[in-house]
Amino acid sequence: MNLAKRVETLTPSSTLAITAKAKELKEQGHDVIGLGAGEPDFNTPEYILKAATEAMQNGMTKYTPSGGITNLKRAIANKLKKDNDLDYNLEEIIVTTGAKHALYTLFQVLLNDGDEVIVPAPFWVSYPEQIKLAGGVPVVVQSSEENDFKLTAQQLEEAITENTKAIIINSPSNPTGMMYAQEELEELGRVCLKHNVLIVSDEIYEKLIYTSDRHISIASISDELKEASIVINGVSKSHSMTGWRIGYAAGPKAIIKAMTNLASHSTSNPTSIAQYAALAAYNANDDAVNEMKKAFSERLDTIYTLMNEIPGIVCKKPKGAFYIFPNVAEAVKMNGFTNVDDWVKVILEEEKVALVPGSGFGFPDNVRLSYALQLDDLKEAAKRIKRFVINHQ
Ligand code: PLP
Repeated sequence: MNLAKRVETLTPSSTLAITAKAKELKEQGHDVIGLGAGEPDFNTPEYILKAATEAMQNGMTKYTPSGGITNLKRAIANKLKKDNDLDYNLEEIIVTTGAKHALYTLFQVLLNDGDEVIVPAPFWVSYPEQIKLAGGVPVVVQSSEENDFKLTAQQLEEAITENTKAIIINSPSNPTGMMYAQEELEELGRVCLKHNVLIVSDEIYEKLIYTSDRHISIASISDELKEASIVINGVSKSHSMTGWRIGYAAGPKAIIKAMTNLASHSTSNPTSIAQYAALAAYNANDDAVNEMKKAFSERLDTIYTLMNEIPGIVCKKPKGAFYIFPNVAEAVKMNGFTNVDDWVKVILEEEKVALVPGSGFGFPDNVRLSYALQLDDLKEAAKRIKRFVINHQ
C-alpha cells in the first residue's frame, strides 16, 4: 500500500532513535549510559501526584472542553502574568497535549503550502518535520558557535522572503542551552514586525536557568510584539511531567480559536487527570522546580568541566535547559572518522555511551549530551568518552 506523500520524507526523531538503541543494548545486559534523554530524571513532585489521584477519585475522568479546563487556563494566565509580565485572557490560551502538540496544531492552522518558517540551527528536531507536515517549508538558517549558536537580526533580515510566515525562537535552547538577551530579542523583534513575521516563542526550558540571566519572553517586550507572538510552554520540563502531556499556547485570539477547533477534531482534549495535575503544578510555588534546578546546576558544572578536558572536544558553557552541545570535530578527525554520526555509533558499540549526533539538530560537528542523569553516571560517561578518544588516536 502506498502511504501518503506527506510522510514520505518524514524522518524519525534522532533523539528517540538513539534512546531506543541504548535501551536495546541495556536489555541485552550491557552497562549502557544514555546521554540522549530529553526529560528530567526526577519523579513528578508528590503534591502533583496527589492532585491527580484526587481528580480521579472525584470523577474528573470525562471529556473536558477541547482547549482545556477553565481553572487551568486561569492558572496559566496567572503564571504568564507573574513570571513573564504578560496579560492574556482565557480566549487567548489553549491547553494542549504537550508543548509538542501545541506546535503541531499551530503549524497546521497557520501554514499554507509553500509558506516559509525560519528555523535557526541548531534546532529542536521536531520543528522542521512539523512544518513540512503542515505543507510549509522550513528555512534553516545556520547560526555560529562564536555567537553562542544564536541568530542575529542581520541573518534574519537576509533570510526573509515574501513567503516568510513565521520564525521559531527557542530560548533557552534545546540542544545548546543558550539564551537570547533582551536586546537581541528586541532586534529580532524589530525585523519581524517590519516584515509582518509571526514569532513562535518556544519557552519550554524557561525555569531551568543556571546563571543570573533572566528569561525574557519576546512577547513581553511590547504590545506590538505580543500581538505578533505565540508563546509555547508547558509543565514537561519544569515539573518533570513529560509523560503527562500538558503544554499550552498563548497568543492572538483568532489563532487560538482555530487551534481549539482543530483540537476538537483531533485530540478532543488533553487528558483530564493530567490537566488537574498541571493545575496543581501551576498553583504551587516553584520550590520543587528549584530543587531540581539545583541538582541540574551541579551536574552542568561537572559535565562541562569533564568534557572540556577531552582532547579535540570544545564546549561552550550553556546557561539553561539540561543539555550541553560540544563541538567534537577535532576528536572525530583524530580518531580517523569522517563524520560525527559514525563516531557516535562506534562509541555506543565500544564504550556503551549514547550521545546524540548534531546532524539531527542541523549542526553536524557537534553532539548533544543530556545531563538529566545521576552525577556518578555523568562522570563515568565522560571517563569512557575520554578513553575512547585517547585510545583511537
Ligand atoms: N520544545 C522543545 C525545545 C523541546 O525540547 C521539547 C521536548 O523535548 C518540546 C518542545 C516538547 O515538550 P512536550 O513534552 O511538552 O511536548
